Amino acid sequence: MTPEPVELLLRSTRVVTPEGTRAASVAVAAGRIAAVLPHDTAPPPGAVTEDLGDDALLPGLVDTHVHINEPGRTEWEGFDAATRAAAAGGVTTLVDMPLNSLPPTTTVEHLRAKQDVARGAVHVDVGFWGGALPANLADLRPLHDAGVLGFKSFLSPSGVEEFPALGPEDLEAVAAETAAFGGLLIVHAEDPAHLDRAPRVHGRRYADFLASRPRAAENDAVAGLISVSRRRGTRVHVLHLSSSDALPLIASARAEGVRVTAETCPHFLTLTAEEVPDGATEFKCCPPVREAANQDALWAGLADGTLDCVVSDHSPCTTDLKVPDFGTAWGGISSLQLGLPAVWTAARRRGHTLRDVARWMATAPAALAGLHRKGAIAPGRDADFAVLAPDESFTVDPAALHHRNPVTAYAGKELLGVVRSTWLRGRRIAGPGALAAPTGLLLERQRGT
Ligand SMILES: [Zn+2]
Repeated sequence: MTPEPVELLLRSTRVVTPEGTRAASVAVAAGRIAAVLPHDTAPPPGAVTEDLGDDALLPGLVDTHVHINEPGRTEWEGFDAATRAAAAGGVTTLVDMPLNSLPPTTTVEHLRAKQDVARGAVHVDVGFWGGALPANLADLRPLHDAGVLGFKSFLSPSGVEEFPALGPEDLEAVAAETAAFGGLLIVHAEDPAHLDRAPRVHGRRYADFLASRPRAAENDAVAGLISVSRRRGTRVHVLHLSSSDALPLIASARAEGVRVTAETCPHFLTLTAEEVPDGATEFKCCPPVREAANQDALWAGLADGTLDCVVSDHSPCTTDLKVPDFGTAWGGISSLQLGLPAVWTAARRRGHTLRDVARWMATAPAALAGLHRKGAIAPGRDADFAVLAPDESFTVDPAALHHRNPVTAYAGKELLGVVRSTWLRGRRIAGPGALAAPTGLLLERQRGT
């Protein structure tokens, strides 16, 4: 078989590969990375060369935690708006959560309904998580066979009635069934008993909200999930970890061979409880943004590998649902377009490199979801890239964000790292200053993963 001709050569003094950052030229053929070559490589005949100068070439980010909400709550967010935001923010693959759309992704028929509205409308590649509910055990294997990347469950109320939480017996059954076909179970881990015992929250004070979602709720739920995984052999993943107290549990479980991974989010790494103004419910999410000392420990968990991924948990709603009362406001922080600069700003201050950021935000999430063609600048992977000016800064203007309801906890913040352009399978899909027509594909679980 003759190799496909090289169509594009992307040249940068800072190409971020799994081995490190170096000056290189990345050759693209048929939408895939053909080779990572010396910086001064002459372009093959017929290839277009794009010299990015000192702008960094990163793998396109893989955001495995995005709530798109379409169909059904499309006024909250939709495939077009969310994937525009993704493209503008250097994200080339996202995985849609099975709730807050109507229907939720809990049967094959529902999955097809979502795929039907997404097809042809997405600016980046999109995969789907399925949902595991108390009453859809028989749907899990068909959903797995239909291509969902894994199953999301809640252990505490999800916030929408069509997506009930699993009780302890349901969790056992779901874990056993998922293990039977080699699937992945991803879990919102807060223990409802702790939430029930915590003081009820109402009003404008962030401290009251924080007290209503105690760390113990997360810690105990994570401990319970680990013990189910240990018993059943299920591969499990802790979503949006906020409580750093749970890190030692995860680390020791992994050391003994339990198949558990964990993610945290840009807001837990860059925002603190101490800075949330009264009534500022754009900062409300569950589990909550905690104290600065907790944030330091989460960074330590990333540094030592206990935390695998950093993904957005982009979970928007209409602005009227963000009333200035922490008891009644919808919970969710929208950061799909801002995750890369938000994380890079804090990461650099803490001595981390772009290679670390690429591992947390592209390589590890791609591995989690079994998307083996995504997430790294390496031969054979899809030619998905984010071009970042890592030393340039900007002030977040909500009006410049593409997601449907541009409420953001980052408004007015000065962030480091400007996304210059985004590339999907060797084609520029965003920047400078423009978005291309939607060419994203719908991704399904690859066989054997
Ligand atoms: Zn979420």
